[in-house]
Amino acid sequence: MFTTTPDINSERLLKDLNRLAQIGAGADRAIHRIAGNDADMAARDWIDKTMRVSGLHSYYDAVDNVFSRRLDTSGPWLLIGSHSDTVPAAGHLDGAYGVVAAMEVLRTLHEHDHPIADHVETVAWFDEEGVMEGSKGGLTGSTAFTRDPHADDLFAYIELHVEQGPRMERDGLDLAPVTGIVGVRRYDVAVRGQANHAGTTPFELRQDAGRVAARVATELRRICQDIDPASVGNAGVISFDPAAANVVPGAARVELEVRAGTDQALDRIEQSLSDFLLLAADEEECAAELNRTSAKPAAVFDKRVYGVVEEVCRERTDRCEPLLSYAGHDASVISTRLPTAMLFVPSTGGFSHSNREHTSDEHLILGTQALLDAVIRTGETLLPGLLTKHLTTV
Ligand SMILES: [Zn+2]
Repeated sequence: MFTTTPDINSERLLKDLNRLAQIGAGADRAIHRIAGNDADMAARDWIDKTMRVSGLHSYYDAVDNVFSRRLDTSGPWLLIGSHSDTVPAAGHLDGAYGVVAAMEVLRTLHEHDHPIADHVETVAWFDEEGVMEGSKGGLTGSTAFTRDPHADDLFAYIELHVEQGPRMERDGLDLAPVTGIVGVRRYDVAVRGQANHAGTTPFELRQDAGRVAARVATELRRICQDIDPASVGNAGVISFDPAAANVVPGAARVELEVRAGTDQALDRIEQSLSDFLLLAADEEECAAELNRTSAKPAAVFDKRVYGVVEEVCRERTDRCEPLLSYAGHDASVISTRLPTAMLFVPSTGGFSHSNREHTSDEHLILGTQALLDAVIRTGETLLPGLLTKHLTTV
């Protein structure tokens, strides 16, 4: 490393997290900043004002994403941030942590007049969660940004987030560089057999649609584990028609969801699922169809930016392992436009989308410092000429 690394102001970080947590807080400190509601817009206003008071340039784009950077800079910029909207009755860290940490990193670099400070921009994305009325599944601000010409002025995106699951705590990790975000596919399985008397019809003469559906629902886990041990699957809805204890089901439906780190793994799971369904249907003398009802592609993060993030995490702690994100993030859509990576800090008890969301102060501070390290190192790696020029002219 050829530039010095300033320490973040950890007191200010924790104070700002508390301040943002008060905006939209109801009973039991649960937060209601649904995208576009008064509290969400007040939070954006607070972010905007806080950055202005620190002597930075801050502005809203056409879809209410809030950006901040140094005055009179011409880029290119490295974008850091997350979303400031929440689900109903949310915790205080999902999204908000990444936004406040990004604000802290830029202000620290600005105050130390670090050469990378001219090349950092922060963002608070609009409607990541998708619970706003009329939202098309969330990621609204980041998706709009992928079509914004301003994206051409940026050279990478890094998002810090709480894990929102139990894996890091279980494995005793302090930090996790994130390799990518799972792709998600949903399926509707439709099985058609023959309704019949459940007493007088011998097993071997039944066309039991319910049995086919149940076999697919239970087989899903084995299929996922055989193909990709890091994948997960769920049979969340099952229904029989007729639905009566003394009638062999004549028709059945199951809704399945599969998540995996690559589209290739998702393809193979889908094929295996389809093969098993046809086999089971054949054995039960039924007809069956596997219909894919939705598909979100997996995001595999940029090798260079991910490499920088992993390197700085390992320099800060030995308790650090790469992790795949099983939840969606703005980083997944931004990765289609910019070299992107993420890092996680642990979630106490694995709780998220709940007022039980918690991360220790120690981990909140460590994650923010690692984000600052990653910003400097990414600048040195992706823009070496730019920073050297600064250093020699300063
Ligand atoms: Zn989030």
